[in-house]
Amino acid sequence: MSRPSPRIEIAHEALKQAIIEQALKPGTKLPEDEIGAHFAMSRTLVRAVLAKLQGEGLVDARPKRTALVAQPTLSEARDVFEVRRALEAEVVRLVIKRWKPAFGAELEGLVRDEDAARERHDEPVSIRLAGEFHLRLARLSGNELLEKYMSELVTRCSLILAVFGRPHSSDGAVDEHSEIIAALRTADADKAVAIMNEHMGAVERRALLGDHQEAAPALGDVLSLYAGAIAAKGTATPLKKARAK
Ligand SMILES: [Zn+2]
Repeated sequence: MSRPSPRIEIAHEALKQAIIEQALKPGTKLPEDEIGAHFAMSRTLVRAVLAKLQGEGLVDARPKRTALVAQPTLSEARDVFEVRRALEAEVVRLVIKRWKPAFGAELEGLVRDEDAARERHDEPVSIRLAGEFHLRLARLSGNELLEKYMSELVTRCSLILAVFGRPHSSDGAVDEHSEIIAALRTADADKAVAIMNEHMGAVERRALLGDHQEAAPALGDVLSLYAGAIAAKGTATPLKKARAK
């Protein structure tokens, strides 16, 4: 498989992180010319980036080549959570089968980062890190296909949080993640699955309650922050937030 060009990767990663961290709100227009000018890319390359984001459920294509940050409906959101609950249970079973003490330390490191973001009241980063906890679990399952599906589901769930989540919708996640780690250590698969199910139920309730309205910053400002941060340190988290908080 050929590697995509670094510019496509940077544009894809910048847009994806900006959408997941809610710097670009659902329904925001993503004009090809503006994105192309920003990343010095042809329209053909911009379309490739937008098509990839569409495949990940993050972008909706409209007639006349208008792309928007996706706005999943409540019923689509429930479908995503249903599939995710089923796969998370399988992840837990597989991780317990392969369990090593090093897994516990790795997962605890992620929970500490998540807790630090929560302490800073950095809600979008804390939501992203909460997703990373589940992605790491999926990787520890040792099943690459499961990891790929989980990655798409976690990304879609982050967008759902952006659309439906109320403020502080990630509160409680840190303690729940610590409980999951403790359950994995006991090697009791049924108990660990039950705790994961409870956690996913709580995440869904937090995600699908309340509405979320905030002023939208300009597309160009958000792209500058995210693309600059990726170029500077190989990660997509901007040093300064585009959104007023
Ligand atoms: Zn979680």
